[in-house]
Amino acid sequence: MKLAGRALNISPSQTLAINAEAKALLARGVNVISFGAGEPDFDTPDYIKDAAVTAIYAGKTKYTPVAGILPLREAICRKLEIDQGLKYKPEQIVVSAGAKHSLYNTIQVLVQEGDEVILPSPYWVSYMEQIKLAGATPRIINTREENGFKLTPAELEEAINPRTRLLILNSPGNPTGAVYTASDLMSLQDVILKYDFSIISDEIYESFIYNGLKHISIASLSPEIKERTILINGVSKVYSMTGWRIGYAAAVKEVANAIICLQSHSTSNPTSISQEACVAALNGDQGTQRLMVAEYTRRRNCILKRLAAIPGITCCQPGGSFYVFPNVSAYFGKSYKGKVINCASDLAAVLLKEAHVAVVPGVVFGNDDYVRLSYVCPMERINVGLDRIADLLGKLT
Ligand SMILES: *Cc1c(COP(=O)(O)O)cnc(C)c1O
Repeated sequence: MKLAGRALNISPSQTLAINAEAKALLARGVNVISFGAGEPDFDTPDYIKDAAVTAIYAGKTKYTPVAGILPLREAICRKLEIDQGLKYKPEQIVVSAGAKHSLYNTIQVLVQEGDEVILPSPYWVSYMEQIKLAGATPRIINTREENGFKLTPAELEEAINPRTRLLILNSPGNPTGAVYTASDLMSLQDVILKYDFSIISDEIYESFIYNGLKHISIASLSPEIKERTILINGVSKVYSMTGWRIGYAAAVKEVANAIICLQSHSTSNPTSISQEACVAALNGDQGTQRLMVAEYTRRRNCILKRLAAIPGITCCQPGGSFYVFPNVSAYFGKSYKGKVINCASDLAAVLLKEAHVAVVPGVVFGNDDYVRLSYVCPMERINVGLDRIADLLGKLT
């Protein structure tokens, strides 16, 4: 069957493919340690599940407004005001089937053929494909390890041209864990306002932040930048609710309305039951979330310590998210059982096959000198996995 160019031009999500491969090995009884996952290993808290069950029996099982139920949009407004001092009206909030869907909708309504979208690399895979799906051109900026993988104002300014319409920022970031400070964001703001384009701020990892850093939304810097920002967030990571599929966009009304219109002809409202559960999540006690972050802090410190002990590996200290992104290029040119390792993809393949450890090669995120490890597995498994990695790297000749 003949497929549309749109379908031919997109690549499948490679992070999901690697996880699938690791799961297939697990299913065959192989004790694979997976550092590939992109979701918390905690269960969704009971108070959230209870709210969903109650919603089902209360008959909250029908269509809702396309943009989401009012109590949820109000809860989101309250959250944004309390956490970031951002004032939005419920009409400015659109709830979708996960933050990925919010991003897709936003990019669809903002850019088209002939437009350029600035995407700092390493980037989260789906941004790239979503930009292409909208017909726009990604303009990749390679950020540098020595800058903590953060885009500098000079790098941004250099990438701008008359076709620039949008910048995508993700702080705390996936895969690098980079966290932009207020002063980082302020200097980017100057450039954005000077050239006047829009910005998507993906804040899905906001709660996973370490070393005393604080999450700052670029939208909170000034009314001028808020007007140009589409803030994206959701409940998947923060409340361990990846399967519930709820994310949201906060934007000026004209953008929110365009997203609502698009969504009204594609998915309509996100799941009514999940929306009710999210009201409980956002309005309830945030204690379980704090426990989760405390545990991730311990694991982060452990994995960084273990990586630092492996010769040749350098790893930028991630300020947030639940990933580390070590540079493994010192091992390129070495070989294992006659197989030469030339890039992180080669190394990831050998690690999975020979050491039964799954990591995601950086090529997926635009830079194959690195691998991404998530620490969303118990501490014992992290330690066993790092033992295996250190052992295998020691055997390379
Ligand atoms: C996980 C993730 C998302 C999307 O999460 P949803 O489950 O779709 O809400 C968005 N951005 C980044 C960077 C992510 O890692």
